[in-house]
Amino acid sequence: MIQDIGEHVYNNHFEHREAMPGSYVLHYAGDTVLCKLEGGVIEVPRLSDFAVEPPLQYLFAIDGENFFLARSEQVSLGGFSYETVARLRAAEPQHLLFAVVTGWQLFRWYEANRYCGRCGHPAQAAPTSRELCCPACDLVIYPKIAPGVIVGVIDPATERIILTKYAGRAYTRYALVAGFAEIGESLEQTVAREVMEEVGLKVKNLVFYKSQPWSFSDTLLVGFYCEVDGATAITVDRSELKEASWLGRDEMPDRAEDKVSLTGEMMRRFRSIGNAVLEG
Ligand SMILES: [Zn+2]
Repeated sequence: MIQDIGEHVYNNHFEHREAMPGSYVLHYAGDTVLCKLEGGVIEVPRLSDFAVEPPLQYLFAIDGENFFLARSEQVSLGGFSYETVARLRAAEPQHLLFAVVTGWQLFRWYEANRYCGRCGHPAQAAPTSRELCCPACDLVIYPKIAPGVIVGVIDPATERIILTKYAGRAYTRYALVAGFAEIGESLEQTVAREVMEEVGLKVKNLVFYKSQPWSFSDTLLVGFYCEVDGATAITVDRSELKEASWLGRDEMPDRAEDKVSLTGEMMRRFRSIGNAVLEG
């Protein structure tokens, strides 16, 4: 998955650090990032690549290499261009892809919170932590992380799983039932509600699988498998989905090319071991 960066170590401890010429600089413009992309290999500029040092905000480190967010208008840098972040999903090396995507979530959060949402005063970085704070009214602004669930609904009697396709989106591959947690509900309740809303079924025996930071949509995804409870006839929510069906292991796409998403891993796991996914 996108956060599985092998031997590399992601350090998100927050502090204010000074940039050095070799520091990585993440420079975003809207949904694009300044990088080199050749043959699927991504390269992120270092501070020494910039003729003029932009205003910088320390973000995080990987293997002791510091990543800074540039806070300036678009720049022109020889050999580098602005590439759409969402199209970099298969880029290598994965630890740089992870840095670019994670930095993009932070960039969008900083951009959306330049002013206090309560009183309109310019927000400031807190001295020792990631939060922003308002010096006028003391509002504390925390990074935006929206929890959501991914659900593999299994019918053990026929060893099939529900796969869905979303309506009205560019991304049209098979997926699992998924959705965001609402305020005031537990993740278990989110699972029950989303499955009922999307396919009209009851579920039982939830088994937690894994979680995943998914910075493309400011999400922390939590993956569960569960069993259908009672009737198995699907009622598709046509406003949200265009297709949902029970598929057996041999009927599923293998999603072998998708190395970054929890959805892909959960689908491959069911395809590989079937009902055993319910054993945790
Ligand atoms: Zn305020």
